[in-house]
Amino acid sequence: MSRRVSVIGAGWSGLACALELLARGFAVTLLDAAPQPGGRARAVTVRLGDRSFRLDNGQHLMVGAYSETLRLMSRVGVDPQAALLRLPFELRYPDGFLLQARRLPAPLHLACGLLTARGVAWADRRHVAAFALHWRRRGWTLAEDGPASGLFDGAPAQIVRRLWRPLCLAALNVELHQASAQVLLAVLRDSLAAGSRAADLLIPRRDLTDAFAGPARAALQAGGADIRLRSPVQRLARQGSCWRIDSRGTLGEAEAVVLALPPERAAPLLASADLAELAAATALLRAVDSAPIATVYLRYAADPRLPWPASALLDDPSTGRFGQWVFDRGRLDQANAGVLSVVISAAGEALAGSAEALATSVARQLSAEIGLPSPLATAVLAEKRATIVPSPGLQRPSTRLPAASLYLAGDSAAGEYPSTLEGSVRAGIAAAQAVAADLGPR
Ligand SMILES: Cc1cc2nc3c(=O)[nH]c(=O)nc-3n(C[C@H](O)[C@H](O)[C@H](O)COP(=O)(O)OP(=O)(O)OC[C@H]3O[C@@H](n4cnc5c(N)ncnc54)[C@H](O)[C@@H]3O)c2cc1C
Repeated sequence: MSRRVSVIGAGWSGLACALELLARGFAVTLLDAAPQPGGRARAVTVRLGDRSFRLDNGQHLMVGAYSETLRLMSRVGVDPQAALLRLPFELRYPDGFLLQARRLPAPLHLACGLLTARGVAWADRRHVAAFALHWRRRGWTLAEDGPASGLFDGAPAQIVRRLWRPLCLAALNVELHQASAQVLLAVLRDSLAAGSRAADLLIPRRDLTDAFAGPARAALQAGGADIRLRSPVQRLARQGSCWRIDSRGTLGEAEAVVLALPPERAAPLLASADLAELAAATALLRAVDSAPIATVYLRYAADPRLPWPASALLDDPSTGRFGQWVFDRGRLDQANAGVLSVVISAAGEALAGSAEALATSVARQLSAEIGLPSPLATAVLAEKRATIVPSPGLQRPSTRLPAASLYLAGDSAAGEYPSTLEGSVRAGIAAAQAVAADLGPR
């Protein structure tokens, strides 16, 4: 008989973990509190004026370096070529600034991109080339972690404003002074510096449920996994060689349990097990902070609204310009013609006022920077705990928790990536591998 493993949390991490466990012959139960899988990366229905649109709980951007995510998408029958728009890495602003990587092997893709950049001072180009060379020679590793702002001491202000800060906000969802320099270097190493394919921008064409969570759920069901939605797990208890899992009074049993949850959800479950050996891991999880992301959807009369699928925006919260990226959802999928999404990372200040005020200021920013008219309708989607704060030296518990057959995935688990889809997927796969190594073949 197959050995039963319960995975708690059906976000991209839990789905990845469940798929890997199933492929290794385990009997899998996947539980989630929500009525649908996908967690922080899922489709939602958004009302914009007289029409509803199938969009996402938050606009996401992926990069070519998301190798494990792309592999699992293919495994569940999603064709990444069709599901994602793939563009060479580019940082484009409406005022003409353009830094675009070329389809060449590293580091030529970046070198040629710098040579042909538009609106970029020569001193700024030299700085980027010298920065890449410097960290390449040092293996993109620091002797001691510190704030990422320290990586750019003395760098030209324009390139920090238009390149390094936007990359840090997009990948780590915090300002440079709050971010771990080592985590930012790891992201740059595996994306921008790793070659043109790894640096490519991948934008989901339809929605995030179509891109992975929906097909992953179908593949798990077809493979015999027991998927229980609307099943919040409230308590874990060790009983002999098994774990008892309590979800609203319904008790389940498993030989191993994987918590594929964000830190604020994983911590109370660990505490519920009431085991002294889990106290330190619980304390680490409780110390992890999270940061918000806001997505503003704006609907316009005609389509397409932008000459490109996506563009960076020059934000300046002190003057009410909060938008950092704008995406033309109509260019990605005709069903969303006329809809733009604007992303605001590290959105604490933007979300301090009302949703209406934020939508109005974003619409004003798009009018000023791109010349757009007033939108017909807007909607603000705020995710208060979108990602964890990757502060310098942040410690998270490792995949194997110090209690038999209990594992951690998602952005709760230690790893070199920040809270991203790829980070979560990799953490899910790592947990499945640890379970397989510990429990042995079926
Ligand atoms: C607005 C926004 C924008 C983002 N943009 C990007 C981006 O551009 N690129 C990128 O790579 N990443 C981005 N991210 C981050 C990315 O979405 C997350 O890192 C990833 O989705 C986390 O997946 P996960 O499976 O680890 O966690 P989650 O998605 O949080 O999954 C955890 C699941 O556990 C369930 N759960 C919670 N408590 C319980 C319980 N007690 N019992 C049972 N189930 C429970 C939840 O319902 C949820 O489904 C963004 C996130 C947000 C919110």
